[in-house]
Amino acid sequence: MNIQRESITELLDRLSEVVPDYPSAGISFKDLTPVFADAVGLRRITDAVIEPFSGQFDVIAGLEARGFVMAAAAAYASGTGMVTVRKAGKLPRPVHSMDYTLEYGTATLELHRDDVAPGTRVLILDDVLATGGTVGSAVKLFEMAGAQVVGIGVVLELSALGGRGSLGANKVHSLQLV
Ligand code: AMP
Repeated sequence: MNIQRESITELLDRLSEVVPDYPSAGISFKDLTPVFADAVGLRRITDAVIEPFSGQFDVIAGLEARGFVMAAAAAYASGTGMVTVRKAGKLPRPVHSMDYTLEYGTATLELHRDDVAPGTRVLILDDVLATGGTVGSAVKLFEMAGAQVVGIGVVLELSALGGRGSLGANKVHSLQLV
């Protein structure tokens, strides 16, 4: 195959793995780590995920943990900084916190209070959009900080789970619907 002509969909189909019943029965886990591990794959998904937002953001936020890979690569590629949104208890300085609902129970995401100045234009990146609870929580954290979320970029969107609908007017760009 001529890799140069491969579409993003073909690239993702070739490199990503689907793991049935992980981490629990009934979940079809979309594993993008082989895409990250591939030089062409990492470059192409990074460029494609930020492309619609070119010139519209001051900083890129990554959601722990696979969002960090995307956000760091995208920040480097676009000449911006990268902000980490982390699970509870990982950030050492004062934080904004936001609880969100998981399939079973709740979880909490946190953002350092001084990582973004009010008015900063933020692009949020993660690997997979499922129910939207994780990204929605991150959006709220940046709103608490007075920042402006200009968009959300993900590689895969599990469209049946309705994540996009839960994110209201936020602009969501996904590379592939599954
Ligand atoms: P959600 O909050 O439901 O949108 O879930 C999104 C978060 O959970 C992302 O950080 C994903 O990495 C992870 N995630 C949820 N469902 C899957 C799945 N089927 N395959 C891979 N990652 C998933």
